[in-house]
Amino acid sequence: MLSADSDEDPDEDKPVKAPKGVETAKKSSKKAPIKSKKKKTRVKKTVRVAHEMSADRRKEIKQALKEHDAGIRDEWDRSSGQKSHTVMRKRVKPGQMRTIMVDLLEVDLGESWPVPVTIIHGRRPGPTVTITGGIHGDELTGPSACTHILSNSMTDPGRPLDPDHVAGTIRLIPVMNLPGYRNKSRYFPDGRDLNREFPGKAKGNTTSRVAHRMWNNIIKDTDYLIDLHSAAKGRSNMPQVRANLADPPSNIIAKAFGIEVILDSKPPKGSLRRCAMEEGIGAMTYEGGGADNLDHEAVQVAVHGVLNILRSLHVIPGNPSRPRFRILASGSTWLRAAEGGLLDMYVGASSFVESGEVVATVSDPATPGLTIDVIAPGDGLMICTATNPHVTAGTPVGHFLPLEKHSELVRTQVDENMMFVVSGSTEEPVWREEVDVDEISLEGEWSGGSVDAEWQHAFTGDSESGEATPRND
Ligand SMILES: [Zn+2]
Repeated sequence: MLSADSDEDPDEDKPVKAPKGVETAKKSSKKAPIKSKKKKTRVKKTVRVAHEMSADRRKEIKQALKEHDAGIRDEWDRSSGQKSHTVMRKRVKPGQMRTIMVDLLEVDLGESWPVPVTIIHGRRPGPTVTITGGIHGDELTGPSACTHILSNSMTDPGRPLDPDHVAGTIRLIPVMNLPGYRNKSRYFPDGRDLNREFPGKAKGNTTSRVAHRMWNNIIKDTDYLIDLHSAAKGRSNMPQVRANLADPPSNIIAKAFGIEVILDSKPPKGSLRRCAMEEGIGAMTYEGGGADNLDHEAVQVAVHGVLNILRSLHVIPGNPSRPRFRILASGSTWLRAAEGGLLDMYVGASSFVESGEVVATVSDPATPGLTIDVIAPGDGLMICTATNPHVTAGTPVGHFLPLEKHSELVRTQVDENMMFVVSGSTEEPVWREEVDVDEISLEGEWSGGSVDAEWQHAFTGDSESGEATPRND
């Protein structure tokens, strides 16, 4: 059962109550003359949102997986001969790796925006896995991870992605939104979000034409899609996977990615993930780090996850690494600033926080001596935190995943700074069999309708799972 808090509309005007998921305590300098920075304030826990994932949802997922017959597809018969692979009339022979330039726009005049697409076509048949990065031009986790995946240490003879040992086809598009990447912008030059335009229209607006061309030529005939993202400007994400777990092929790769936190969420309209899923493609999004930033840990986890999926699908040799446990979450809480001013975050993305802990304070130079605390509503993980210190009342400052009774288990995997250590972020991966992984279900609702919807209400432009900003053509 959910408490009333989790069903509240956070944008609803409720002057007598603290915003959802936030415990605030006003202090004047008279009452609290000494304020230590890492101070912990124990307050009565008032927000409860995490329970077991709802029985209905669990049943739905179980049933979908039961009915799903992964089957043996003729074209993946590993013993049969491999044909050449053709992308946009360019041929890639078995056992070959080739980079082709694909024009985002088909034009005779003006900029066509050619982007590199690298195809590793295995000697033996198998599924086609497409990895996309930089759909949002300022998110660098994907481009960096793809660059590592395509490095000589990965693709040379005898290395993990040696085309001679690949069964199937791997397509990498490190930077899909190249104009945005060059402009350090999330958007296309026409101001649109490519990840809201799929599958696109041949005669639509500029971004829609790009989506249409990439969808039809590069994505549509793929079997699995791994879309790499980071948080939008002004915040940072803890490494996490987002997938619709009731969609069996998506469920399979989301788990195969091999990290702890999976958000069971339906993708927003027009997103590549949604479009792919509706086409029967197993699709997941990875989120890690923040825009305009190269977060090494987030990149490392991305590379680790991609290799895990390729190993699980037997596209490349080797055993996938699995996490010690998985958190399958269907709900979360946004912590918001109760007042405006300068935000001082005490925790970061991946921080494990305890009930009552002060996670941030807000102060205003115009009102010396008054600070407002943002308090953790329970034990849980900060899966996203603000990096922009300018806040107004209601600005989301953190995305909190309540753990409740699972907090002890999660606490066993934090470092000395109380940061959760994501599988794959350290040098030594732990090898595990699928049966050894404990799964934790967290119940709730994505407030506002989708994972990042609340953030979207605060800023224009948002990460993969926010709602589209309505725009007129
Ligand atoms: Zn993104």
